[in-house]
Amino acid sequence: MLLTHVKFDEWPAKALREMGAEAVEGVGAWEDLLLVHSEIFLRAAKRAGERPLLAVAVANAALGKRQAVFYIGGTMMAGPHAARGGHFFNAVVYIARKLGAAVVSIDGHFPRGTWEAHMEYKFPLYLIYGGADGPPQRYIHRRGHKAVAIPMPPGAGDRSFWLAISHVLKAEGPLAIHLGFDIHREDPTGHFFAGEYLFYKLGEALRGRQFYISIECTSTPKVFASALGSLLAGVAGRGAEPAPGEESEEALREVRRVVSSVFKK
Ligand SMILES: [Zn+2]
Repeated sequence: MLLTHVKFDEWPAKALREMGAEAVEGVGAWEDLLLVHSEIFLRAAKRAGERPLLAVAVANAALGKRQAVFYIGGTMMAGPHAARGGHFFNAVVYIARKLGAAVVSIDGHFPRGTWEAHMEYKFPLYLIYGGADGPPQRYIHRRGHKAVAIPMPPGAGDRSFWLAISHVLKAEGPLAIHLGFDIHREDPTGHFFAGEYLFYKLGEALRGRQFYISIECTSTPKVFASALGSLLAGVAGRGAEPAPGEESEEALREVRRVVSSVFKK
């Protein structure tokens, strides 16, 4: 289920390979990028050397599976025309377009590239992001094509995130997911308080489903190992469900209000 490329040498790729991830070899084709990205984008991506093609190879290997969690260095900031944040291939949008899947984004950041791709390709989109980072909910709901936005208030933790995610996972069919570990309580940004409970519950809810997760913000090696471990335990049904951590009641009330306004009827 875990995949990365054999040639990626940054620590999250090494950590994944140490956890037994499949080390994909070989390269994809520049034409594959055109399913998501424009010729203008391609010219910028080519300056990053072969890295975008290694990412394509990992995405293609993931597509050969029913369930995959992969790391290619982040994907969510890569839009149809603009490569930013060092993201040179939006593998999540690529997979969503190949499979007709819905896209779910769970990260402290707003996935700007994926949002731009949604405006162009109109795939179903569910956004759970730090409210301080992204546009207001009403903007997304007005401009998007039935996109669902759940901005999370600072201090949101296990129960808040699970409330939002459990509603979003009612979307049917395969899911292409951006997942960031910067929502973890031990992430240095300190905005959110999700932990082992949330990642386990997410994994448990995905058990038996067809899904493709791109690891986005990796946080620290300790958070990475712990959050990913809980996610995989949830998918496998291994170990006991962790208890939810503490969080602000005010944040939870706010998320309840937002979720009930989005999912009324
Ligand atoms: Zn992030």
